[in-house]
Amino acid sequence: MGRLKTMVNTVLDKAILTKNDLVTLLNAEGTEALLLRQRAEQLKMQNVGNKVYFRGLIEYSNICAKNCYYCGLRCANTAVVRYQMRDEEVLDAVRYAYNERYASLVIQSGEISTPAFVDKITALLLQIGEITNHSMGITLSLGEQSKETLQQWRNAGATRYLLRIETSNPDLYCKIHPNNALHDFENRVKTLQWLRETDYQTGSGVMVGLPFQTIEDLANDLLFFKNHDIDMIGMGPYIEHSQTPLYQYRDMLMPLLWRFEKTLNMIAALRVLMPDINIAASTAMQAIDPAGREKAIIAGANVIMPNLTPQKYRGEYLLYENKPCIDEEADQCKRCLERRILMIGHQIGYGETGDSKHYVPEVSSALIQV
Ligand code: SAH
Ligand code: SF4
Repeated sequence: MGRLKTMVNTVLDKAILTKNDLVTLLNAEGTEALLLRQRAEQLKMQNVGNKVYFRGLIEYSNICAKNCYYCGLRCANTAVVRYQMRDEEVLDAVRYAYNERYASLVIQSGEISTPAFVDKITALLLQIGEITNHSMGITLSLGEQSKETLQQWRNAGATRYLLRIETSNPDLYCKIHPNNALHDFENRVKTLQWLRETDYQTGSGVMVGLPFQTIEDLANDLLFFKNHDIDMIGMGPYIEHSQTPLYQYRDMLMPLLWRFEKTLNMIAALRVLMPDINIAASTAMQAIDPAGREKAIIAGANVIMPNLTPQKYRGEYLLYENKPCIDEEADQCKRCLERRILMIGHQIGYGETGDSKHYVPEVSSALIQV
């Protein structure tokens, strides 16, 4: 039986996708959306296989120097009880992940750049390396830092870094951040460049469904990832938080379900555009649909971040409202996710770091390793 001659199939037959082609993919609904996601899933199998890799997520601290207009952790939100995990709590979470053969960790936090914070992270990285025999992939998601800091953390054992560009449209970036040097689009782009230069597997991503965001913006986001040769991506729906300035625009937002469906299309279109990268099924997907992360997996994602943060802190790490699983401990998250992933016919890559196949080490560091 021949393939349906649909708009989506016509685009999927092309060797090079233009911005307009991506807009067509992102606009797909119903059967057309299904065709796109099936193609993405097929490309995933061919390029990175059917394994889903776990990255144990440690939400290290909710203390943040920044004031992003969308985020519940912004420093002006006085309703948040601020915390920083104790070293032993971090190391316990690491031991748990190591024993459960997760093989990768993510340390995420509000953005702090004080010397004390920088040195604390370095010390933790060194201890993690010792505990885990330097066998785990370690992703940092600690915001914008100086090139020296990034290098120091890389030397101490971090292998990947996640810094979402949030939106690749500089005008929209200005609308969702305060207009000052601490929230500068160009600096964020420059930091992504430094990550590459300091030999991290470089991760980025955007929020989908922001106020003022258009489908063209989203298509440009995908091209931005390609042009910046990003190795791993985490994209999630924007979810409003009542204690943030962007909340005032809630009436102009597309419905949550729309944002969810568009994120699935973003994941699928990105898998078509960059078949060999790692794509995360973000937790925010599950805030909208209980099976959100599994749906992201079968639309082309291959990474999941089970939460390892002690339960007592989870309710204080609310980037957005309705965050799922805040009353669970690490073991419950693991068992629940495991069941769900097996149910959709995927395997979990236990004991494998699942590095991005797209990543090519910098020549200089490759030489040093020889
Ligand atoms: N402070 C670091 C890491 C923590 S924030 C940083 O900003 O890079 C991690 C991510 O949470 C952000 O990149 C952003 O994309 C996402 N986020 C924040 N507020 C959100 C919201 N209201 N809805 C959805 N995602 C949000
Ligand atoms: Fe801080 Fe990150 Fe939230 Fe911005 S998005 S306020 S940097 S935690």
